[in-house]
Amino acid sequence: TSFGFKEVGEEEKSKMVGKVFNNVASNYDLMNDIMSGGLHRLWKDRLVSKLHPFPGMKHLDVAGGTGDVAFRILESIKSDSRRAMQRGLDDLNEETEIYACDINPNMLSIGKKRAIEQGLGDERCLFWTEGDAEALKFKDSSMDSYTIAFGIRNVTHIEKVLAEAYRVLKLGGRFLCLELSHVEQPLFKQIYDFYSFQLIPAIGGLVAGDRESYQYLVESIRRFPNQGLKGKILKPQKKKKHEVELSKRHL
Ligand code: SAM
Repeated sequence: TSFGFKEVGEEEKSKMVGKVFNNVASNYDLMNDIMSGGLHRLWKDRLVSKLHPFPGMKHLDVAGGTGDVAFRILESIKSDSRRAMQRGLDDLNEETEIYACDINPNMLSIGKKRAIEQGLGDERCLFWTEGDAEALKFKDSSMDSYTIAFGIRNVTHIEKVLAEAYRVLKLGGRFLCLELSHVEQPLFKQIYDFYSFQLIPAIGGLVAGDRESYQYLVESIRRFPNQGLKGKILKPQKKKKHEVELSKRHL
């Protein structure tokens, strides 16, 4: 255990992740703002701007939690649709399907409440589905795009998640993963280590009354492969020939 963490087996990890997100669900959004100083909002905005959402798209947001990414995608499409309708065109929103899929029903039910608060409760394009990223219930080649934000480090078998993402994506579909990684700059690393190992669990204890779950979240970032390993261990089986710029098809 290079960081002094307890190594856990596969079954234990998935139980622990389930327990952590059951415990943190009710404070999840507040804690995200506190822990990242609001930065997670900018990172998610960036993810969605890179995705180039378009009206009519079929999108799957895995480990969708309380809906932050799904809401952003939907808002982006709705604003495109509003602009189109102002120009006298049809409501382009009609065929859009955005799925927020998560293994944890407590996270999803907070997401559904937030959707109602944000006026998206009756939104016909937004679907909440309980499911495991390692064994998705969606059909082969059914999605234009797939996102997973701060989720992949919590799964037990990353290679199964990638294989499932590949299976459900259409030819030319896009996979976008947002994840925290390791700090390399030495001075900043010291500050970050102090912040993440000392302060975050303490804040988790104070605000959410659950130091242990936040200790897990910090540790899960350290265990996740660092930037230097990218591409070496996370190889999907086959490469698709074309990366179609979906946004261009619809402009
Ligand atoms: N994407 C959301 C966000 O960025 O705010 C939530 C991220 S939260 C840190 C991680 C989420 O991954 C939790 O909601 C958890 O339930 C979910 N999760 C963990 N393992 C999963 C799995 N095998 N399949 C689907 N979701 C999973």
